[in-house]
Amino acid sequence: MHSNSLIELDRAHLVHPVAAYRTHEKLGVRVLSSASGATVTDMTGRQLIDGFAGLWCVNAGYGHESIVEAAARQMRELPYATAYFGLGSEPAIRLAAALAERAPGNLNHVYFTLGGSDAIDSTVRFIRFYYHAKGTPQKDQFISLEQGYHGSSTVGAGLTALPAFHAGFGIPFEWQHKIPSHYVYRNPVGTDPQAIINASRQALRRKVEEIGAERVAAFYAEPIQGSGGVLVPPRGWMKAMRDLCRELDILFIADEVITGFGRTGPLFACSEDDVVPDFLTVAKGLTSGYAPMGAVFMTDHVYNTIADGAGGSAVGHGYTYSAHPVSAAVGLEALRLYEGGLLENGRRAGARLMEGLQGLADHPLVGDVRGRGMLAAIELVTDKTKKTPLPAVADPSRRIFDRAWDNGLIIRAFGNGVLGYAPPLCCTDSDIDAIVDRTRKTLDQTI
Ligand code: PLP
Repeated sequence: MHSNSLIELDRAHLVHPVAAYRTHEKLGVRVLSSASGATVTDMTGRQLIDGFAGLWCVNAGYGHESIVEAAARQMRELPYATAYFGLGSEPAIRLAAALAERAPGNLNHVYFTLGGSDAIDSTVRFIRFYYHAKGTPQKDQFISLEQGYHGSSTVGAGLTALPAFHAGFGIPFEWQHKIPSHYVYRNPVGTDPQAIINASRQALRRKVEEIGAERVAAFYAEPIQGSGGVLVPPRGWMKAMRDLCRELDILFIADEVITGFGRTGPLFACSEDDVVPDFLTVAKGLTSGYAPMGAVFMTDHVYNTIADGAGGSAVGHGYTYSAHPVSAAVGLEALRLYEGGLLENGRRAGARLMEGLQGLADHPLVGDVRGRGMLAAIELVTDKTKKTPLPAVADPSRRIFDRAWDNGLIIRAFGNGVLGYAPPLCCTDSDIDAIVDRTRKTLDQTI
């Protein structure tokens, strides 16, 4: 189909996620039509390096025939099997077992969802059930971090702390509380790692005191805050917060929807941080974006408390597509590819990416370079000493996105002048070098 008619059809019918509808209608959609490795091609034939792996999800990269084959085989054999009524399918069971074996600590129980938002929703449901089962249903208050993102479902959007997800929706709810982020570059306590960790611990302790310890259910954190602008906490932050949650008798949820599956190096960022949360959520890299799927891991203790609490009754939480066999088959193959070399390649490529981006630190617009593995960001400022953010005029981030696009690069341009990078783990050295070179060119055009 001619691209102009597709643009018209899109304008008339497709409602896009997180979009300024009227601006989008004016600008028109850019249609992607094929991809291979880390390169995508649009309908006009323009080739671009996908520096953001779709939406930080195509961790394995595009064009893996073995994943396509795994999905096709499963569709042929058994395209659907419900996990209700005591039924199941082989790939879902095998994937749950493989994930449990690799997850940190005793996160041995895996509940499959369709993506990250419903994984987060599911944790809220399970946590409520858990406290009812324990006989403490009054523990119903939830805490998360400023700049955090935990999805855009009705409940998850309230744990999310990005204003765009609240404005006009009447959320968050009164039982959803926030404490300040660790945001190293702009932290009021300065950049000293221990001071930042202490400040976060103090903020959580104070918030729990304010609400009343007997009312607080759980604290949510991403190992690296993704949509808030790739905010990397000091080493030891996750562990310090995990330990504090134990001391305060509240559950700790690690949201690894972005950081899971090699994004920061290992399969799970928590392993590197030496943290075993009570719940761990994943999505995105689980299937490398080839099919929708997310998952909630829970510890033996959490699972057993819920199971015993339910007794002979059903735990009434489920989706038609929970444990979908095609997504599970895709997940198993993606896991095989990660462990068959992609994790290792991602670690090498990630080091090169960080080194390349660090090389941009001398650019007059670059205030901060941060990241871990294949997850990175540069923060643009107009005055490095004062850390003055880019002026919020006429959507500067969209302009930077457009310039990068014209230079053959897809990056995430956050509204606050942060450029985000999450390329596929399959990137070659020349892919990484192109990402860095095209970024420099884009910045030069932005001054
Ligand atoms: N949690 C985190 C940390 C995320 O980054 C995201 C999405 O970006 C979600 C949850 C929601 O996942 P999904 O978009 O698959 O619903």
